[in-house]
Amino acid sequence: MSATTDLPPRRGPAGQGLPDDVLAELRGIVGTAHVLTSDGDVEPFSRDATPLFRARPDAVVLPATTAEVSAVLTLATRRGVPVVPRGAGSNLSAATLAEQGGIVLVLTRMNRVLEVSSAELLAVVQAGTTTATLGDTAAAQGLLYAPDPGSRTVSTVAGNVAMCAGGLRGLKYGVTRNYVLGLEAVLPTGEVIRTGGRLWKDVAGYDLTRLLTGSEGTLAVITEITVALLPLPRTSGTGVAYFGTLADAGRAVDQIISDGVLPATLEFLDRRCINAVEDFAKLGLDRDAGALLLFGDDGAPDVVTGSLRRMADTCQAVGARDVTLARDIAESDALLAARRCSLPALARLAPITMLEDVTVPRPKLAEMVDRIDAIATRNDVVCATFGHAGDGNLHPTIVFDPTDGDARVRAEAAFDEVFRTAMALGGTITGEHGVGAAKRPWLAERLGADQIALLRRLKQAFDPAGILNPGKLGS
Ligand SMILES: Cc1cc2nc3c(=O)[nH]c(=O)nc-3n(C[C@H](O)[C@H](O)[C@H](O)COP(=O)(O)OP(=O)(O)OC[C@H]3O[C@@H](n4cnc5c(N)ncnc54)[C@H](O)[C@@H]3O)c2cc1C
Repeated sequence: MSATTDLPPRRGPAGQGLPDDVLAELRGIVGTAHVLTSDGDVEPFSRDATPLFRARPDAVVLPATTAEVSAVLTLATRRGVPVVPRGAGSNLSAATLAEQGGIVLVLTRMNRVLEVSSAELLAVVQAGTTTATLGDTAAAQGLLYAPDPGSRTVSTVAGNVAMCAGGLRGLKYGVTRNYVLGLEAVLPTGEVIRTGGRLWKDVAGYDLTRLLTGSEGTLAVITEITVALLPLPRTSGTGVAYFGTLADAGRAVDQIISDGVLPATLEFLDRRCINAVEDFAKLGLDRDAGALLLFGDDGAPDVVTGSLRRMADTCQAVGARDVTLARDIAESDALLAARRCSLPALARLAPITMLEDVTVPRPKLAEMVDRIDAIATRNDVVCATFGHAGDGNLHPTIVFDPTDGDARVRAEAAFDEVFRTAMALGGTITGEHGVGAAKRPWLAERLGADQIALLRRLKQAFDPAGILNPGKLGS
């Protein structure tokens, strides 16, 4: 088993793996300046946000229009050249690695917000628009684009759709798939299809919009997205509760939801995470607490005040050491910053940070955290866990120094146990970061042989030449 692999370049220097006539045709389609082949130009596209994986493509191609995407894919299918679609490359599952060489197709030049309609409560954006640009443009018109991944300032909307990204608002608002109304996408054979559209109700045909959402760039290249928007909540508020143990925090989560409150935010940090964040951001967090629970809501002011009070009371009743409500937006933002900076804070602890992503049924959250702690001790690794408590979605994070003997092997062994434990508890190997190359060894166990076979038949129907992100998602 190898969860993390340094993938050697499949061929010689970048660009030399593609025949000259293919490179010439690519340059004719997108312009010479938008076909990158030199070592220096290609290097940033040989990795994503997963530090232990690396694979160099033969060429990086940056199209500006759907017609150019179609022409590149038609050529690639005709000549059997692998194509890996890519947005910002912020994925955490080695999903954009050109494991078989070929082309990395980067959509970031297609980055315009084409429309925001408050009458229809929707927006239409090009694939490479960043999540923050969409969110901020909608907010300027009094509208909310609800999906809120921690990477929103860099991640692209197509990347979010391809991964079905989640985020901090998942419990109340759902994840990316709940907001995708329609897609323009290019099939590997070059046809441009439009799935769904501007309609909030449309059940004609198979739901290809949903199928493409979360397909990790293996079925089609998404070029345009129509998303649903909501009215912007009038206000929001946040509170923080400290607990002696994560089990207590888990009980508070269960109780909050049983009480009929559906919080906009319900996030947790374990003790190691609290201390890393405090070292990094100096927010005045309680370093001795076993767990920090961040809770929040949005909506009408009286509703927000009421639900924050109820959640604070519940935390206290369950035995919180301390509960504080933010007095204003600035204090709320500071608390949310504690959660958002968990990853950079942990990344300072050692040269390599392996962030993982499992989901368990919510009532199993505390048990899963305890099991992760035991696994970390057994494998002698430094592991901190934070995550979306309301969704049962945990991000156990192991940090290590690669020069420290077999540290990497121990980290891989620990994660193997973590994934199997999550599945044994009725959970899954990824809640929001996707399978990519990183989770491939566990996919068959999660889905079973019949589903894997069906996935392969679907892949064959969309991509008969097998050029699109080959080897990923069980293909
Ligand atoms: C600091 C940090 C915080 C993060 N927080 C979160 C979080 O809270 N929630 C969460 O879910 N994720 C999070 N992520 C992971 C990541 O940001 C998301 O997976 C995001 O959706 C990736 O978007 P991207 O534009 O970077 O896509 P990329 O990484 O470029 O690509 C991701 C996948 O989408 C495919 N793809 C990209 N563009 C297209 C396209 N046009 N057509 C078809 N397929 C395409 C790729 O082939 C690949 O399989 C975080 C990452 C970081 C580094």
